[in-house]
Amino acid sequence: MIDLNEIKPKVKGESDKYSWNLYRFLNKLFKDKDEGKYIKNQLEIHWLTYSRWDGKYLEFDPDNLNRGMNQVLILPFGLEHGRSFYDLNTIMGKGRAELFHVPWRKDQLTNITDWFFSTYQKDGRCIFDRNHNKWWQGEANRFTYINNTRRCNWCGEWHKKEIHKEVKIERKVRWVK
Ligand SMILES: [Zn+2]
Repeated sequence: MIDLNEIKPKVKGESDKYSWNLYRFLNKLFKDKDEGKYIKNQLEIHWLTYSRWDGKYLEFDPDNLNRGMNQVLILPFGLEHGRSFYDLNTIMGKGRAELFHVPWRKDQLTNITDWFFSTYQKDGRCIFDRNHNKWWQGEANRFTYINNTRRCNWCGEWHKKEIHKEVKIERKVRWVK
């Protein structure tokens, strides 16, 4: 399923293209003892279409994962599967492995396990920030700048610099007779 060495940050405790918190979480809880660094059939990753914020329907959109990292659930097998989950937001943001128990309906889940692992391995944390405008830990080394372009060192995307001029209108009150 996935080789943990492929998503391991280079420096211990520091996120780069890959999240240290996510690596640590997977390594600690799911590493297959017999298979070394591989995770195989021990968990599934699902997108919850029922918004945990306001209950609205949220379709899975691979280019827009940043809309709801807490809609991304990690379901461990063997732990009353179907009622317990970890959420990616808590794992990556807070570095905690907190197990939640919330009832949901099976039809509110979209299995994204294969998509998630292959895309995360390829693009790293950019899958949560396709617009490249979020601040992440380890962001300082995210881009290589060449003249008016930059290249994302994580997902390989190129961006061109554009200068936008903004003209502001000021209103001043004057009393006249
Ligand atoms: Zn990128």
